[in-house]
Amino acid sequence: MLYIGVADIPGSDDHEGYVAGLSADGSYTDIWTDVRHGGTPGLLAYAPACECGWHGRSHPSDPGGYRAAAQDWLSEHFAVLDPARPVLAGLGRPLCPDTDFLIAPDPARHRTLA
Ligand SMILES: [Zn+2]
Repeated sequence: MLYIGVADIPGSDDHEGYVAGLSADGSYTDIWTDVRHGGTPGLLAYAPACECGWHGRSHPSDPGGYRAAAQDWLSEHFAVLDPARPVLAGLGRPLCPDTDFLIAPDPARHRTLA
């Protein structure tokens, strides 16, 4: 999730969020791995992650856990960044994932018919 909102947040390009998969050995998948739809072997949980290296607490590896991890990145990391707080306070509304962020399309929803 890349911030594209109307109010400029300095440095926001350095904080692209994503949902990582957490493996049994404690490693996380990277920003380029789409962990939706169970395509990642050995994945134990979902966790919010950011390209800056931040990771949040894990959630079950189901659709609800995916959504919770994405929300955690927004509310527990991006929205509380020092440069973001004053901008968001002046915005007068909470951030909206659908309009304030560019979100990677779900490949399962964008398949073309052969
Ligand atoms: Zn970050």
